[in-house]
Amino acid sequence: MSRYTGPNCRLCRRESVKLFLKGEKCFTTKCPMEKETVKAPGVSMGRRRRKMNLYGDQLREKQKVKRQYGVLEKQFRNYFEEASKQKGVTGTILLQLLERRLDNVAYRAGLAPSRKSARQLIRHGHVMINGKKLDYPSYQVKIGDLIEIKEKSKSLDIVTQSLESRKQRGIPSWISLDFEKKKAVFNTIPERTDLPPDIREHLIVELYSK
Ligand code: SF4
Repeated sequence: MSRYTGPNCRLCRRESVKLFLKGEKCFTTKCPMEKETVKAPGVSMGRRRRKMNLYGDQLREKQKVKRQYGVLEKQFRNYFEEASKQKGVTGTILLQLLERRLDNVAYRAGLAPSRKSARQLIRHGHVMINGKKLDYPSYQVKIGDLIEIKEKSKSLDIVTQSLESRKQRGIPSWISLDFEKKKAVFNTIPERTDLPPDIREHLIVELYSK
């Protein structure tokens, strides 16, 4: 299955939630989801969205999380399979695996304004892990890993602007960041309480467990 290349904001409208796919714009009043009249794509005046059944709910939750983290169906399914093999709460482990993707950690640390731009930076060789270039965004970051922007790339506008705006919003507690050196350390795996509360991962587990 190919990656979605249409307008990002359409995905948020489809899921009726902010997925934060467009970087800085997502935090401004330019975000279409900030408008009171926002409607799902294809829903016109006078037509209401159909009430969803349980299967519909499960499917939408899976689509929402998959889109939020920017992974394809097969990859997402693989994360679920991996989570279900591990000891613990499958839904939480699934989210932790997604959170530990290198593109997500680089985004959370503020090295890129969105997961998508973090993926681009990584694929183009601008990111190093523990001093070595690593160009695959799905790398599972480990506790203690040092994530940094390559020396030559530290002045890229996308990096400096992202870090500047992140200075105001802050970064998650499980990551520490040296703003000046553009280096981050992944301190610990986030607990469920650290992760977005609006995700209903049990619906995804139920969907895939059928
Ligand atoms: Fe979603 Fe960001 Fe577009 Fe808002 S600006 S609709 S959060 S992608």
